[in-house]
Amino acid sequence: MHILVTGGLGYIGSHTVVALIEKGYTITIVDNLSNSSLSVLDRIARITGTKPAFYQLDLQDAAGLDDIFSIAPVDAVIHFAGLKAVGESIQRPLTYYRVNIDSTLTLLEAMRAHDVHKLVFSSSATVYGSAPIPYSEESLVGQGITNPYGQTKYMIEQILRDVAQSDPDAEFSLLRYFNPVGAHPSGLIGEDPKGTPNNLMPFVAQVASGQREKLSIFGDSYPTPDGTCIRDYIHVMDLAEGHVAALEHIRPGATAYNLGSGIGTSVLELVHAFIDATGKDVAYEIAPPRAGDLPEFYANPDLAASELGWSTTRSVEDMCRDTWAWQTNSAKTRL
Ligand code: NAD
Ligand code: UDP
Repeated sequence: MHILVTGGLGYIGSHTVVALIEKGYTITIVDNLSNSSLSVLDRIARITGTKPAFYQLDLQDAAGLDDIFSIAPVDAVIHFAGLKAVGESIQRPLTYYRVNIDSTLTLLEAMRAHDVHKLVFSSSATVYGSAPIPYSEESLVGQGITNPYGQTKYMIEQILRDVAQSDPDAEFSLLRYFNPVGAHPSGLIGEDPKGTPNNLMPFVAQVASGQREKLSIFGDSYPTPDGTCIRDYIHVMDLAEGHVAALEHIRPGATAYNLGSGIGTSVLELVHAFIDATGKDVAYEIAPPRAGDLPEFYANPDLAASELGWSTTRSVEDMCRDTWAWQTNSAKTRL
């Protein structure tokens, strides 16, 4: 089976490409390298022994995408490509709406023109906004989303539902990720944030490595047991395997699945797990809360377990250990 992976050199895409190759799939990657590097392709080849076909292309380039669909005998698409920085999306909403929505529309048009009807889409738990926790696929979506990035995920989900309704052959999976962290255990691929990391785990890793002086913990007076925010962290290799499961169990229509562990971990718990797993010190201070942060959310992961036969197998300790392997390795061989 031949899978077109958009954004396949990015953080989650590259790990998913590894999982797909290991399951025997043939891969074509399309990525404009706006947030990734060509060296990831060689690293995928080092891990798997296979170098996937790669096209450097912006997904908004309809003619270029049409050429790729004409060359590659694509059976299904996994669509990761897009802009994902929450804070930047508040500063540059037009760019986020244009890139994320236009890319998806262009992709859907090319798929229809080339008779490709299977799509797995990277959505996010952010679509649940202010719904009560734990979030299940039946929870209300679209209320209380605090930034344009989250809105694009919500809007694209709606577009996919409308397109699926109009196309009796459509098989779409909408995967709502919780908090992806960690790296491939080889330490060869991982998350490589440009500039100051916005997310907790890469920041913690950079403090442990001495690149940054200390972590600011955004708030310790939330209504949680230790006062810091609770999230559902998921190892990126579990997430990658979730995509393989979604592809293998894809079904007619548009179906949303939570990809999370169902376990909540506080900021302080994560910091201490990292210290325990790596033996490294992580200096921190308590700072004011970050605007827009929800005190607590985690998944009800039952639907993915029953319909996809998938659930997470890696612990927070695994996430910390593999993040550290990547941090130390990538610092030596900077991408
Ligand atoms: P990433 O930035 O590492 O990967 C995205 C890739 O897409 C990059 O390689 C980038 O160069 C490419 N890209 C961006 N715009 C493109 C375009 N117009 N044309 C072609 N290529 C383009 O991000 P990631 O963390 O791997 O996230 C992948 C997907 O998962 C994104 O859609 C993101 O919104 C979603 N997601 C991520 C998280 C997370 O915490 N990382 C959580 C929920 C959802
Ligand atoms: N966080 C923090 N310091 C940081 C980055 C994040 O205390 O430097 C907290 C943040 O307030 C949130 C949690 O860590 O409660 C996870 O944040 P992240 O940005 O990784 O994920 P998201 O908020 O998107 O769930």
